[in-house]
Amino acid sequence: MSSSITMNLAEVLKENFGYSTFRGDQEKIIQNLLDRKDTFVIMPTGAGKSLCYQLPAIMLEGTAIVISPLIALMKNQVDQLEARGINAHFLNSTLTKREVTKVKKEVLEGVTKLLYVAPESLTKEENIEFLKKANISFVAVDEVHCISEWGHDFRPEYRRIRSIISMLGNLPIIALTATATPKVRQDIIKNLQMEDATLFKGSFFRKNLYYEVRPKVNSKIQLIQFIKQHKGEGGIVYCLSRKKVEELAQFLCVNDIVARPYHAGLDSHVRDKNQDDFLNEEIDVIVATIAFGMGIDKPNVRFVIHYDAPKSLEGYYQETGRAGRDNKNSYCLMFYNYNDIVKLEKFNKDKAVSERENAHHLLEEVTGYSESARCRTRQLLHYFGEHLDEDCGFCDNCKTPKESYTIEQEVVLAIEAVKQTGERFEIRHLADVLRGSKGQYVLSHHHNELSVYGKGKDKEAHQWVSILRQLLILEFFEKDIDNYGVIRVSKQGEEFLKKSYPVEILNDHVYPEVTDNDDVEVKDPHQQHQLIHETYDKVLFSLLKNLRKEVAKKNNVPPYVVFQEESMEEMATSFPTTLENLTHISGVGQGKANKFGKQFIELISKYVEENDIIVPSDMFVKSKVNKSRNKIQIIQLIDDKVDLEEIAERLHLTYDQIIEEIEHICHSGTKLNLHYYIDSVLDEDKQDDIFDYFMEAESDDIESALEELDEEYSEDEIRLMRIQFMSEVAN
Ligand code: ADP
Ligand code: ZN
Repeated sequence: MSSSITMNLAEVLKENFGYSTFRGDQEKIIQNLLDRKDTFVIMPTGAGKSLCYQLPAIMLEGTAIVISPLIALMKNQVDQLEARGINAHFLNSTLTKREVTKVKKEVLEGVTKLLYVAPESLTKEENIEFLKKANISFVAVDEVHCISEWGHDFRPEYRRIRSIISMLGNLPIIALTATATPKVRQDIIKNLQMEDATLFKGSFFRKNLYYEVRPKVNSKIQLIQFIKQHKGEGGIVYCLSRKKVEELAQFLCVNDIVARPYHAGLDSHVRDKNQDDFLNEEIDVIVATIAFGMGIDKPNVRFVIHYDAPKSLEGYYQETGRAGRDNKNSYCLMFYNYNDIVKLEKFNKDKAVSERENAHHLLEEVTGYSESARCRTRQLLHYFGEHLDEDCGFCDNCKTPKESYTIEQEVVLAIEAVKQTGERFEIRHLADVLRGSKGQYVLSHHHNELSVYGKGKDKEAHQWVSILRQLLILEFFEKDIDNYGVIRVSKQGEEFLKKSYPVEILNDHVYPEVTDNDDVEVKDPHQQHQLIHETYDKVLFSLLKNLRKEVAKKNNVPPYVVFQEESMEEMATSFPTTLENLTHISGVGQGKANKFGKQFIELISKYVEENDIIVPSDMFVKSKVNKSRNKIQIIQLIDDKVDLEEIAERLHLTYDQIIEEIEHICHSGTKLNLHYYIDSVLDEDKQDDIFDYFMEAESDDIESALEELDEEYSEDEIRLMRIQFMSEVAN
């Protein structure tokens, strides 16, 4: 390229985009394309890929076709280009007939510089005919990894792109993606027939992302804790199913985290609003399926949490890549449970054999990554074909190294095993051979006749799998690109056989297996403190009990009316030191907190201070909305003095259920006035009887009340009166 054109490029950049310098390889890429050479660009999101085709499109005569899988992104890009005064359009199913005609006219007139098309539109006969007539400068294929079945976003229509481009003439192609393993890369080149393309690959190393994998135990509590520790920061929580998304979003809201759901099943305007609210920082957390995030450009996403295991590391790296675009340190956390992997394998069962195999391999990589104690960043980059010479020093595995041991002879054995089996097998099989397995697969390949067979008996199969995986990361082996999962001996591996040396191997993580469901469910706050602390602070509990006695006496009520024992156990677990926090304790509503709370939080504060207790801040995990819609309606209807029978009917509940709901309402501290109803079912003397009983009683237990009151009253009557009593005296 002559320097005059180089000058020119900088000018065009300044003039059209307002930037004074190119980033990374942008300039070389653009020149390569201007030379009409096929160009393959692999750069992380945000590196500035779009400019690589937008700028040449402006410079060249005619129209550049941009193939992009996402209609939403197209519109965005076109809007941005138009704002810069660049004539750009898109052609997709959202356009009306008239709009289509207009777009086509401008393209044929040669004024349109960029025409974005969805692959589905590209493959339409009428559009092909139209494009044949147009003057096309080149074709850009964005998100080109969609071409490969080995990635995570496979789109069958992408497979037809090459044949259509060929119909349009001899056009240079620029293919771009932010994710492609060596395998996917090869697939793209083959499919687009770009064997001679110049490859430009930026580094995927994101130094500001902290990667961590945690066992998925008490993950809901962990989630709350994590998010509360990052209060005021924006983050994404990814789950696999829509149902889980809804459930978690609600769960977070109940726990005072401003969160919204996002998934493809939501009404589109709700979905868009939730996304916008997240981008505009109206909400902190978006709980989403992987439908969320493509093309969003929020620089300050501070954390990305994978609540469920991802289906592939490609997806994982893309999704976590949305954190920390502003280069500030950000957190990428995954909750891992092998059972999630098993579940995902089950979903794959109905797929075609080859597809299922692919999915299986991708999952194997996820498992390997999660269980390994090797540097996370190094593993991820290795997966994408990038080699780090050193560990990152900034991931969970780097920060808290696992036990390690040194091997040398075993490395020789491992390399021998790969060689002797003809470099055609996967890690699990190699482990079987080394262990001397008598499995059918081993025998049928006569691998029991090899000299390495059974030489690694002293180690468990999983240990060998771990060793082999680590030797792969350490580059003693390399992946066979044509056969997924198969490993071969690398040059370094061959060298090792000539001159061996000790190699450090790390013990894998051993995560507890959570078998039932995917999580320990936190049913209610009573259960929660057991989960968090196992036991409550007995000393504080007895102090609280003494105080309760005092307060009860002063107020002339029985102690249980002040606070229930379980409430105090909870206080002795989570140490609420403000009235606000006190209301999070089960059985303590606003009324009760105001009425009796002050002395209690004073006692707790003093205790916490004297004993140097670190209060788990915001450690209240609630699993249910305190006032469900039903409850709110019931409160309103009672306010309107509607008979309970009628309330039951209106809400399609039984009378019993209504009483139960009312008890809950009362128990959580809301004051209710049921006099209007009680007066109609129970005469005043009887009311006084029961009321007096509760005043004297040691507890509010119904059984004891029935017994004590000589079964003169029905259970319903006693329950009603208990509600009235608690409302008047306690709340
Ligand atoms: P990608 O497609 O690789 O994810 P984009 O093309 O969306 O990235 O670019 C990311 C951001 O960087 C955009 O806001 C873009 O305008 C900006 N950008 C691109 N090239 C340059 C440049 N040379 N100088 C400054 N900013 C740039
Ligand atoms: Zn690391």
